[in-house]
Amino acid sequence: MTTVVSKAKKMPDVVDLAQELVRFYTVLGENERTVLEYLADPLEDAGFSCSFDAYDEAYPQRASLIARLHPEDEEPSLYLGGHIDTVPFGNAAWRHDPLGGVIEDGRLCGRGSCDMKAGVAALVRAALDFALESKASGRKRDLVLHIYGGEEGGCFGSRHAAQRPELFGKPGAGIVAEPTFLIPLYGHKGALWLTLRTAGRAAHSSMPDKGDNALLSMLRVAARLADFHLDASHSLLGKATAALTSLHSGLNSNSIPDKAVLTLDMRTVPGPDHADLARSVAETAGPDAQIEVVYDAPSVWTAPDLPWCARVRALTRAVTGVEPEVRCADFFTDAASARAVFPQLPICILGPGDPALAHVTDEFCPVEQIRAALRIYKALIADWYKG
Ligand SMILES: [Zn+2]
Repeated sequence: MTTVVSKAKKMPDVVDLAQELVRFYTVLGENERTVLEYLADPLEDAGFSCSFDAYDEAYPQRASLIARLHPEDEEPSLYLGGHIDTVPFGNAAWRHDPLGGVIEDGRLCGRGSCDMKAGVAALVRAALDFALESKASGRKRDLVLHIYGGEEGGCFGSRHAAQRPELFGKPGAGIVAEPTFLIPLYGHKGALWLTLRTAGRAAHSSMPDKGDNALLSMLRVAARLADFHLDASHSLLGKATAALTSLHSGLNSNSIPDKAVLTLDMRTVPGPDHADLARSVAETAGPDAQIEVVYDAPSVWTAPDLPWCARVRALTRAVTGVEPEVRCADFFTDAASARAVFPQLPICILGPGDPALAHVTDEFCPVEQIRAALRIYKALIADWYKG
């Protein structure tokens, strides 16, 4: 008796796959490797070479999936990127189990349904279809699929992968499948997060003169930085911003604090160099503050009038029936990590789901958009590898 391997099982329906992905608990780095192995299984069967990039040595589950169809290919490939982790559920009660993967009224419900397991399911299914077609036709072109872990914590997975440019092959263009309501977006601001620290000397607060109050030093630093602003702006990305976002100091009411920590979040546009910005913050803050760069990712901007972007718009419109307006994302994505490696790489952010539903209670993604996303990705892949 022979066992028939069910191809239906290996080539899941895109919506079934999105439901299955929602059922994996992948809050902030949990179970990432488990779900990525689940995705690697059909990808390897279809001909992809899969490897895992562990981005946190202390936690083996924290990983990204790197899938390459023909790594030996020298021609420019298409790069597809997404992330598998989600934010926590929050405290409010959900109408449906956030891990249930329930479909109701044409909506896939659950944490990560919109941001961005629906997009990952559509990317994976499109990649599987391309691999099987390539196998049948004997085409040996590379397709690069990266499914990252750790995006929500600060793009840890993609930033780690970006330290090894060879994982990306030779990309000629990229799609990052974050939810955009199926409107191709041409970039987003960069981020530069700084932590400033002041140090002092602890003392009993009844004798403040015996100590050196790190909180007071930091308040002077913060006052100087309150007026710090960035002049740069961009026609579609908007104005660069700087905001003080947290201040921590002191342990109790009756001690002089010996340290204080302040965070500054800057969102940048193409132009000013991040190292220059950090230097200018240091000058404004003065000599009392030690500055550490905790996150540094470039802005992403792809000119919408590039021929490839015009094709992305046309192929998207052919599926959705809507002429997509030309704009950028408000949120930050793993595209910045790819851009750090390939500063000229054209990247569109394009995926199913309403970005306003990311991270909310009762997050959902319209099932119709998941199917439309698959059609769009397949069209974009066919367009890239035509001829
Ligand atoms: Zn996301």
